[in-house]
Amino acid sequence: MRTFTYERATDAQGALAAMSRPGAKFISGGTNLLDLMKLEIEQPSHLVDISRLPLADIEELPDGGLRLGAQATNSAAAADPRVRTRYPVLTQALVSGASGQLRNMASVGGNLLQRTRCPYFYYSAAGCNKRDPGSGCAAIGGYNRIHAILGASEACIATHPSDMAVAMTALEAQIELLDSDHSTRRVAIADFHRLPGDTPHIETDLRPGEMITSVMLPPAPPGGQVYRKVRDRASFEFALVSVAAIVATDGETISSARVAFGGVAHKPWRSADAEAALTGRPATMATYRTAAEAAMRDAVGQGHNDFKIELAKRTLCRTLARAVQVS
Ligand code: SF4
Repeated sequence: MRTFTYERATDAQGALAAMSRPGAKFISGGTNLLDLMKLEIEQPSHLVDISRLPLADIEELPDGGLRLGAQATNSAAAADPRVRTRYPVLTQALVSGASGQLRNMASVGGNLLQRTRCPYFYYSAAGCNKRDPGSGCAAIGGYNRIHAILGASEACIATHPSDMAVAMTALEAQIELLDSDHSTRRVAIADFHRLPGDTPHIETDLRPGEMITSVMLPPAPPGGQVYRKVRDRASFEFALVSVAAIVATDGETISSARVAFGGVAHKPWRSADAEAALTGRPATMATYRTAAEAAMRDAVGQGHNDFKIELAKRTLCRTLARAVQVS
């Protein structure tokens, strides 16, 4: 690890000012950044610790939604009674991520910014356009079992590792940002993470020096909410495929549906095709299968990960069936 300086910010203005130093980077829980620094993938010369800023509260919004402070830990967000009762898909996603110890440290804001777990990204001898733009992509033609089946490019086939962000995508969360000039803006989570294109090293819409201050959840949509995660072991593992589904029914008919996948693309993958195939249709396994085929119509395997296409279809069917059950 390279040497760096450290300061703990006590207010947002001080944190933003500290970011004007060359090579400065925010740190919160540090559950991903410290690993990246040890491997010299991230090489900040100055760390600005924002974990103690007064941005950890979880508050009611006037419209019936909820604001999660960016410094709330993943554990605190998952355990909040309002999240558990009104946004169970989010609690389920949060508790399926990492381990209890990591969730106690990881922040809501940091979770959104965690980086891919593509093994070649962490292996400096391999070409990786995300780590070293222009150096190629060792995963294409390499061992790519965990890689993307949707939205990939010739430059990068990595997936986004977050569970929380998948649930937030189904919930249509908005991300609140504070810029270095103290202006604020909101970005829909669907627009926050980017597909790789030919710039896979640019992963989000975040501007230099900008800070995530909160995530705003709109009022809970009608229907049953379920997050299902399929992985190689039962805990402390990233998703091969995950699904967040929110489904409402009117009698035997699906009246509304939201579907987002994790583990399949460079960002949480909302499937408008699946949602269209579900809405107004009978709540049956045949309908779920039709939606699954629609969701994976453009999916492309890379060899080792071909199995993910069928896995994603089956995971969606199981998740939809459960969401209807609890709606
Ligand atoms: Fe790097 Fe992306 Fe290729 Fe992995 S998939 S080696 S992160 S460019």
